[in-house]
Amino acid sequence: MCGIFGYVGDERSVPLTVGSALKSLEYRGYDSWGIVWREADRLQTVKKIGRVPTSFAFDAISRIAVGHTRWATHGGVTDANAHPHLDSTGRVAIVHNGIVENAPELRVWLGGGTTFASDTDSEIIAHLLGERVSAGETIVDALRAVFPLLQGQNAVIAIDQWDEVIAAAMNVSPLVIGMGDQGSYISSDPFALTGKAREMVIAPSGAVVQLDAHGVRTFGYDGQELPLPDSHPVPDVSLDELGNHSHFMAKEMSEQPEVIRAQIADPESTARLSDWIQQADHVILTGCGSAYYAARIGATWLARLSGKRTVAVPASEFDDIAPYLNDRSLVIAITQSGETADILEAMRTAKKSGTPVVALVNVIHSSAARLADDVIPLLAGRERSVLATKSLLAMLGRLLAVNGHLTGTADQKVQGLLETARSLDELSLSDDFDTHISGISDVIAKSRHVYIIGKGDGFGVAQEAALKIKEASYVHAEAFAAGEIKHGAIALIEPGTPCIAFATDADFVTDTGSSVQELRSRGGYTIGVGLDVGEGACEKLVLPDLGPANVLIHIFVAQRIAFNVALLRHLDPDYPRNLAKSVTVK
Ligand code: GLU
Repeated sequence: MCGIFGYVGDERSVPLTVGSALKSLEYRGYDSWGIVWREADRLQTVKKIGRVPTSFAFDAISRIAVGHTRWATHGGVTDANAHPHLDSTGRVAIVHNGIVENAPELRVWLGGGTTFASDTDSEIIAHLLGERVSAGETIVDALRAVFPLLQGQNAVIAIDQWDEVIAAAMNVSPLVIGMGDQGSYISSDPFALTGKAREMVIAPSGAVVQLDAHGVRTFGYDGQELPLPDSHPVPDVSLDELGNHSHFMAKEMSEQPEVIRAQIADPESTARLSDWIQQADHVILTGCGSAYYAARIGATWLARLSGKRTVAVPASEFDDIAPYLNDRSLVIAITQSGETADILEAMRTAKKSGTPVVALVNVIHSSAARLADDVIPLLAGRERSVLATKSLLAMLGRLLAVNGHLTGTADQKVQGLLETARSLDELSLSDDFDTHISGISDVIAKSRHVYIIGKGDGFGVAQEAALKIKEASYVHAEAFAAGEIKHGAIALIEPGTPCIAFATDADFVTDTGSSVQELRSRGGYTIGVGLDVGEGACEKLVLPDLGPANVLIHIFVAQRIAFNVALLRHLDPDYPRNLAKSVTVK
């Protein structure tokens, strides 16, 4: 998984344009970066570990360049493993997104005479292409022959030092081709084309794309020229600046009330989703990371509020429920980016069983949107921080509103959501709230472990809170169903261990309060959030009861705590170590 960008055109400083495009693809991986360009008939490369710089120290004059920002799968995070990779002669360069699953076999097949300069699976592609190009093939013909040999979900861009041509091929991993007045572009993501290309086409699977300064052509693996797919306008995304905020996470948390209001202004999408649900015998919600927790909370709501048979399953474990799918099932695939490989795989599995798939997705030009039978937009706007905040709230907003349609209480749910938006605005301005969050954050920032509990939809909140704290601050945070902690994990509680209880649901507040008492009796430093959990809490942040919408407010509390703990520990919550915004490998 990574960001790929290639450009061949009339400008003289194409490598710098590629460098700045890489910055906007960094959300796909940021452990290292690299660029290759052609100068005086030779390939020049620069590659380094760390984030893509905001300005580049090289002054390259070239009309063709290809860049990569990496999220390592095979081979450590080193300069040598950063892409691009060259063949042994230095004539061919590639960048690669994905995993070459049969790289070990291909290395054997290539023979022992080849020296590898990296530990990556990707480098084999450069050597395979190099052999063919040295034998006289063009880079496009070589890629036609080599790409079908690669097993897995891959996207590859290649250039040859003797040609002003970019060759590209993909299988599942997306590539988008941009056509502009200054030349041709290829990118992992349409957003990186904004301000450069006029129109774009989605690179088709089973083909090789040839780009030069004058245009784009596609060929089947047999060499037959294929018609270009239909073109679309390039999305016009305004440059999202930080404004007064220190981090994108802070900015994106502050935008949440607006996201809820934008969804309320689009009741048609929610109504469509509820039609799909009504027509199905049972519903499977699936997602990854925070989106999986949204799926869990959504499943609780659909079952408890609307009486619908619903389960939530992590997309990476989708095979567990695949045997039960049929055309009376409905899969709701929840994803911010729409490019998460595990989600796309789950969607394909569902479609093979004839199951309709609806995507609840933020990026409406994404692969998930193209694969789905219907698309319910999250309307969260672009999310830049690696940590999901407003996109998660948007998922929950849609899932809550849909229960209103299903139970004939749509107006009531809209009122609840409006009140939630108002409440989020108020909390953001409240000094008292700030003081509470700072106090809780101080305790967590000094701890090695924190345990978080909740019941019903509160368990989903606890899971999301634990994930956020882990991602943002690297403090070990673990979530339990409130009633479960006494069945084992309570052994870990020592005097002073912070324990947070999210009490979201009045029906369960007594049970949650009992678990809090049990934790306090073992010396836990217990913190109650939401409804009043009673005497067991050493400290309480009591919030007004908005019914199921409490979840949205409590998630905001978790976000604020995670953000503060990150800052207290001198970490950048926008770019946590080892992560990427969009996980495009399995
Ligand atoms: N598997 C390749 C590597 O580890 C590509 C990873 C990526 O897609 O960023 O270098």
